[in-house]
Amino acid sequence: MNGRYDLVLVLVSVAVAVLASYSALSLAARVHRASGQARRAWLFGGAVVLGTGVWSMHFVGMLAFSLPVPLGYALGETLLSWVFAVGVSLLALYLACRPGLGWRALLGGGLAMGAGICLMHYTGMAALHMSLPPSYDPRLFAASVLVAVAAATAALWIVSRLITSSRHVPLKRFGAACVMGGAIVGMHYLGMAAAQFQAGSYCLSASDLDPLRLGLVIASLSAAMVIIALIVALVDARADSRMSRMALKLQSANEELVRLALHDPLTQLPNRLLLQERMSIAFSLARREERRIALLFVDLDGFKLINDTLGHEPGDEVLREVANRLRATMRESDLVARVGGDEFVLLLHGHEHRDSAAQVAERVIAEIERPLLLDGQDIALSASVGIAVFPEDGDEHRLLAAADLAMYEAKSAGRATWRCYSKEMERGAQDLIALQRDLRRALDRGEFVLHYQPKVRASTGTIVGVEALIRWQDPVRGMRMPGSFIPAAERFGLINAIADWVIDAACAQLAQWQQRGIDLRIACNLSPQQFRQPGLCEKVVEAMQRHDVLPGRLELEITESTAMEQPEQAQQIMAALVREGVSLSIDDFGTGYSCLAYLRDLPVRELKIDRSFVAAMDGTPRAMAIVEAVVRLAQSLDMDVVAEGVETAQQAILLGQIGCDEQQGYLYARPLPVSELEVLLSDCTLRDAA
Ligand code: C2E
Ligand code: CA
Ligand code: CA
Repeated sequence: MNGRYDLVLVLVSVAVAVLASYSALSLAARVHRASGQARRAWLFGGAVVLGTGVWSMHFVGMLAFSLPVPLGYALGETLLSWVFAVGVSLLALYLACRPGLGWRALLGGGLAMGAGICLMHYTGMAALHMSLPPSYDPRLFAASVLVAVAAATAALWIVSRLITSSRHVPLKRFGAACVMGGAIVGMHYLGMAAAQFQAGSYCLSASDLDPLRLGLVIASLSAAMVIIALIVALVDARADSRMSRMALKLQSANEELVRLALHDPLTQLPNRLLLQERMSIAFSLARREERRIALLFVDLDGFKLINDTLGHEPGDEVLREVANRLRATMRESDLVARVGGDEFVLLLHGHEHRDSAAQVAERVIAEIERPLLLDGQDIALSASVGIAVFPEDGDEHRLLAAADLAMYEAKSAGRATWRCYSKEMERGAQDLIALQRDLRRALDRGEFVLHYQPKVRASTGTIVGVEALIRWQDPVRGMRMPGSFIPAAERFGLINAIADWVIDAACAQLAQWQQRGIDLRIACNLSPQQFRQPGLCEKVVEAMQRHDVLPGRLELEITESTAMEQPEQAQQIMAALVREGVSLSIDDFGTGYSCLAYLRDLPVRELKIDRSFVAAMDGTPRAMAIVEAVVRLAQSLDMDVVAEGVETAQQAILLGQIGCDEQQGYLYARPLPVSELEVLLSDCTLRDAA
């Protein structure tokens, strides 16, 4: 007995399959971005949509098929096949959204899913109770199983790749949906072709679910699917607009912070940061117009003594007075900045010769030596001044250091005088060469160690991970902090060798902990150069494989500014790392003027709120609002938030109140050698057990 196909219904079944795949892909992307409770909800929702879609497709395909006898479907098997379809979809989405889906998991998943699809299909076929059961052509049957497994594997692969991509998403998603839908349809019709209905057989279940009623159910389910796909798209768009509102708020918070950050609160003079910014503008102008710039580095003589004998209040008063006098001596176009306790820098335009800069220096010294009456006391002040001139003494990167050096010369020459910079003063360069040599030696002899600082869940005190911070055990100078050698290592091109060491050491530590059942994540810091070195991903993977590190255990911290520089390229590097099972964290968040559209699409697990925000939190509403905006932003990006630099219980409590539970800082622990960290860990477990 031969069946016939209704062409229109066949086409409808193809459309349903593609539609279901498209909805499921949109939902999978949401699953991927969400975490915790929300992730589970999206996962189950997605499974129901995809499963119902595949199942509807199956029955539309069945409706398209008719035999010369009336047909109907038994309710039990029909429902059971739906359960199989949803089960398989759940497995599929779960697998596709796992980070670092390896080949083995991919093949295993494809096999399991293929088997599930066959189960669904043939259970569905069994809903057709025939008086003489149909026989199956073994070759076509085998082919349908093969197509199911291959299609499932391909679909898994496509979804897991598509999730981490962010460009041309709707188009790519539609293409992928066509492939997936086509595969589902292909399997179905092969399976149908395998079934051979015997002549004279009639349908026992013809009076159960008649095709018309089933058709109605399926039509409503398909409509529901379209609606779900639309809703997901809408939710996405809403999230986008919420994000841009949040971005505006963050931007104004940022501007406020920047303003506060650029001036010295005591004297209201520009600080070092603003000086540097002004310098870079001044230098590019001077270059274009072939003019010169003079920098004067002014340091008060014996100010510490004044501070110690008179106290801080009068000391502050003296500094304010000096600031006023300096401002009064300078032209409008010149800049006066305070760069340290009793250190000021003057940026002078239009002083073509050293002589004229020296005249200004003399005037400054004379101004400062003018009598100063404080609380009826006559205070004697003087200053030493160093002069450096662009371009002969250095460029924007060197000139300040040159003026500083010259100031030291003036001090050694007996104070209350000025000196111009000269090449002979340059001993610093020698020091740098020595540092380069020492760094190479440190690498060869293994003088680096990692210290670990816990990230703590504040409400329970549990340690959720650690950050690895490099230390250099210099046999001559003792323990050295990264700030004193990482910048130099970047300059000498030694940083990548150090990065290799750090990642290898962290992986070795992870492996050791894994064996001892200690379930901790280690985060390593990457400098901008390290992040962009060619072959970074391969290196990381190689280290993880060498030590058998489980996926998700190694984390890399990348500063916000690094991630936002050439964001497209950064995103590719990040996606590759995530595919390999590395989790990513954005360091120093809030300082980098993020482009939020990019930030949202970065495959990042965690944001670390920069220390400066935490330090600014003193309980005043404005400071709190700034930090809260940052926390909300991070949360709305579905990322974990860690506040770093938590030093006081007050900060911890305030952070807790605005929902930032993961914290890191001296309040909990300083960066510790591994032995001390392990003591802390066992204390925590003991406390948990008690
Ligand atoms: P970071 O990534 O922002 O690391 C956090 C720094 O804050 C660490 O300084 C840590 O000791 C310090 N810190 C932690 N809690 C507190 C606190 O409560 N208050 C204050 N004031 N500070 C706190 P550290 O170890 O000196 O590292 C400084 C920077 O050096 C790091 O900043 C990171 O950018 C870089 N660095 C450290 N290790 C490595 C490394 O292995 N590779 C690279 N490329 N850079 C590294
Ligand atoms: Ca860090
Ligand atoms: Ca940081």
